[in-house]
Amino acid sequence: MEKIRVELTKHPKAKPADQSKLGFGQIFTDHMFLMNYDEGQGWHDPRIVPYGPIELDPSAMCLHYGQEVFEGMKAYRTDDGRILLFRPDKNMARLNVSNDRLCIPPIDEAFGVEAVKELVKVDQDWIPTAKDTSLYIRPFIFSTDAHLGVHPAKHLLFCIILSPVGAYYPEGLNPVKIYVENEYVRAVKGGMGFTKTGGNYAASLKAQDEAEKIGYTQVLWLDGVERKYVEEVGTMNVFFKVDGEILTPALQGSILSGITRMSCIEILKSWGMKVTERRVGIQELADAAKAGKLEEAFGSGTAAVISPIGELRWKDDIMPINNGEIGPVSQKLYDTLTGIQWGRIPDEFGWTVEVK
Ligand SMILES: *Cc1c(COP(=O)(O)O)cnc(C)c1O
Repeated sequence: MEKIRVELTKHPKAKPADQSKLGFGQIFTDHMFLMNYDEGQGWHDPRIVPYGPIELDPSAMCLHYGQEVFEGMKAYRTDDGRILLFRPDKNMARLNVSNDRLCIPPIDEAFGVEAVKELVKVDQDWIPTAKDTSLYIRPFIFSTDAHLGVHPAKHLLFCIILSPVGAYYPEGLNPVKIYVENEYVRAVKGGMGFTKTGGNYAASLKAQDEAEKIGYTQVLWLDGVERKYVEEVGTMNVFFKVDGEILTPALQGSILSGITRMSCIEILKSWGMKVTERRVGIQELADAAKAGKLEEAFGSGTAAVISPIGELRWKDDIMPINNGEIGPVSQKLYDTLTGIQWGRIPDEFGWTVEVK
């Protein structure tokens, strides 16, 4: 691949003064990475340039037909000042899985990781240092052809932007109430559910909005065919502990293959726990809850890491889980994953990659 050209900003912005008020995805750093694709030329002209607006033709295809994919990952600052990434190769591999489904030409995965590292290095002073804060990394690709015909794009832009983000749980892990969505669906097998693409999120907004209005934090999605099997919770993968065994929905095409999910499974197995990936019925969970065997439930994803579930509501059935408190397995997984990510405990799995 070509060398990445770097043009540094002449107008650095002031960095956020109060790291307890960072929130999520509200502030962006001084630079961004860009690389173009043009048919006949392939991916070319990789560059790091000052962060700023992008000019697009109003007929740009992404604005009309949603040919867009993205990734989400983080850079972590350790107590001794090092910068770590968590399994960045998995993000780039998944980006290419999404690319393939959306007829976007593949990127060189190793080069994608290099681009992330170079950009993080340029803006490393933006990585917040307060406990559990991080630098969120958002790679994304969209079509730019000025053309209203429906066909795969011949011109695309690959961007990476960075955003310092706050601690997800400033007051400690807090279990959430989840509404089991019985009407709307997020994705179906054969569709795009296994990809990270904007369209899946557009499809999820209405259910999320309605659930919030009646006091629930997120929805638990059921399968799009029978509304019987559990898929994901909001924008996270989901796990249940039933009678000592950990259950998580198998990846069958409509579910995203989360890197946190993958890591949870590996960690749980290393602890000698029984982990089963299979279809998980909502009725089965309701029965387990009644029998007192639904011991824990949690979502997993890069933003929250582990999000414990304290209550599930399915139609009129309200299932409290572990008295609305965080369970021991959820807590231990959170401590282990965040320990590895922030370099507080030894990384026995070899998952972290240092940026230097
Ligand atoms: C990104 C995402 C996840 C979580 O994936 P991680 O790699 O663990 O961050 C889960 N579900 C959906 C729909 C997602 O977009």
